[in-house]
Order: sequence, then structure tokens, then C-alpha cells
Amino acid sequence: MTPYEQGLAALRAAQYPVPVRSRGVIALLEENCTVCMVCARECPDWCIEIDSHKETLPPRTERGRPRVLHVLDRFAIDFALCMWCGICIEACPFDALFWSPELPPATRDPAELVHERAELRAWLATVPAPPALDPAAAPAKEQQDADRRSGPG
Ligand code: SF4
Ligand code: SF4
Repeated sequence: MTPYEQGLAALRAAQYPVPVRSRGVIALLEENCTVCMVCARECPDWCIEIDSHKETLPPRTERGRPRVLHVLDRFAIDFALCMWCGICIEACPFDALFWSPELPPATRDPAELVHERAELRAWLATVPAPPALDPAAAPAKEQQDADRRSGPG
């Protein structure tokens, strides 16, 4: 058993209370992902791999142009390389990545630490809900805009 595996086994045996906001694994909400590649470019360890293809959609209006859509084919994170810096999560402009407090499963095979899209999606169920807003805080800018649009006049 490697020191990493021993550490994990000890943590689990002791049922060590992992803080709910711990950086464990990264979850992917692929519906939000636009394949912009920002996370892959910003990752200092180059541990995010993304593949996609282009699809052309018909124009929305009669005189409009056809629209080009990037469709996600592969999204993988190599947790053998990841240094848990969180830059990918901070940099994602579309809120598609989230920290989960779950620990990656212990393994002797580094290839098993490459988590593919389905595994990253499955971690979503373990992502804690965001903290409640301060009741005295001003509404979010998006809410203010929506209120203004739906307001009188
Ligand atoms: S947490 Fe840091 S090292 Fe890990 S995938 Fe994200 S940007 Fe890369
Ligand atoms: S930065 Fe966000 S939206 Fe862009 S490719 Fe990464 S996960 Fe997808």
C-alpha cells in the first residue's frame, strides 16, 4: 500500500470529518460548458483534455447567418497531475466546474486518475449547495436587471 493509500484508508477508517467546502474532485456541469477552452488553457499543469466538433445550425431568422456550435466530445481531468489550485473553476466563464469534497479513489494505476466526462458529471451529486445570501445584501446584478425590465413602465 502506498503512503497515499495508507493516508486515505486512515482518513476513512477514522471517519475524519472532511469540511464540506474541501477541494476533493472537480465536477462538470456539461450543459453549461460551451467548449470555450479557457479552463484547459489556464490550467498550469495541462491536466484538462477537451475534444469537440463543430455543427452548423440554421439561422434563427430568414436573413440571418447559419450558426456554428461547438459540441463537446470529451472532457477529462487527470487528477494525477492536478495540484488542486482551483484556477479552472475560477476561470470558467460559464459556471460549468465545481469543487466536490469527495476524495479521488486510491489507486496504484495513474491512468485510473484520469476522470472522464461521465465520472466528472457524477461528482455533481456531491457538490454542496452554495451558501445562502446575506439577507441584507443588495440583489444580484442580474436580478436587478430583471426587476428593472419587469417593473412599471
Ligand atoms: S485545479 Fe488547477 S491543476 Fe487541477 S485541473 Fe484545475 S487548473 Fe488544473
Ligand atoms: S472554461 Fe468552462 S465552459 Fe469553457 S471549456 Fe472549460 S468548463 Fe467548458
